[in-house]
Amino acid sequence: MSSEFDLIARYFTRPTPGADLGVGDDAALLTVQPGHQLVVSCDMLVAGTHFLADAEPELLGWKTMAVSVSDLAAMSARPRWATLAISLPQADDAWIGSLAAGIHACCAAFGVELVGGDTTRGPLNLCATVFGEVPAGQATTRGGARPGDELWVSGQPGRAALALGELLSGSEISPALAASCRMALHRPEPRLALGLGLRGHASAMLDVSDGLLGDLGHLLAQSRVGAELDAEALPISPLLAACGDRRQAMDALLRGGDDYELLFSAPPDERQAIRDIAARCGVPVHCIGRLDPNAGQVALRFADNRVEPLATKGYDHFRGVDQPAP
Ligand code: ADP
Ligand code: MG
Repeated sequence: MSSEFDLIARYFTRPTPGADLGVGDDAALLTVQPGHQLVVSCDMLVAGTHFLADAEPELLGWKTMAVSVSDLAAMSARPRWATLAISLPQADDAWIGSLAAGIHACCAAFGVELVGGDTTRGPLNLCATVFGEVPAGQATTRGGARPGDELWVSGQPGRAALALGELLSGSEISPALAASCRMALHRPEPRLALGLGLRGHASAMLDVSDGLLGDLGHLLAQSRVGAELDAEALPISPLLAACGDRRQAMDALLRGGDDYELLFSAPPDERQAIRDIAARCGVPVHCIGRLDPNAGQVALRFADNRVEPLATKGYDHFRGVDQPAP
């Protein structure tokens, strides 16, 4: 059985050439490039709330780091360092080794150095804080969208929800698409290159962690605008192919969380630039609607011009999914 300090030395201490001082002292020392702002985001994954206790540790390690990297991507910030606070029921070397492998793999993939943390015994709980930088004044916030801007989403939101449905209720996903849905749930790929590329092009941005409509509600609230989604433009066909049920596919797309795609707005004259940036990053993007002055409201427009209001419900840990976002 390893001690706390053996665990830290063996699994969480790696070279950190980009830090002035990394793991091993009372605190890390970091220098941000001149002319940049420090960008900080923290996410906690709790067993039973965010993942099942028997989750595969390497994937859990990846996801712990990936969800925070995704927050920095959504700010158009470059992640540089992270700290990791973990609470573990026991010091099982094989399990911790796999967890650490996932954490370091994600750090390596996105240029992050682990510079500190805390390791304690207790209920399984993983908390990563990622520190990054952005040229001063150039972060993409949730508050910059204007009426007339177009609304875009990256990739394929809804896949994680289908995989979660499969896990929890045994609902079936077509075998051809099951792997990509499970990857979206267990090993989300932060859209970092896209988020960085959109700096100066997107007027507002966030990552979709709690469901497209719920997170859209946050963007609309902070920008004081409304949105009209174009039903024909929503990327529903892969979800429909995966589950075979239009209602379920639509629900996964609009309300499913945990995909970590980017939702962003941009003026129409940025359309070509956005398509070029996305192509360079190898990430599909979909223009799914436009913003209007109807602050906080979302409508869905169908091909026959019928318009239906939508509630911006997102997942809320204290209220569940059925309450409208404030
Ligand atoms: P202190 O008691 O001074 O807070 P700790 O004994 O908790 O220090 O940690 C020793 C060193 O190991 C510190 O530099 C801390 O940042 C680092 N550390 C602890 N746990 C982790 C972890 N899970 N990942 C990375 N670094 C860690
Ligand atoms: Mg400590």
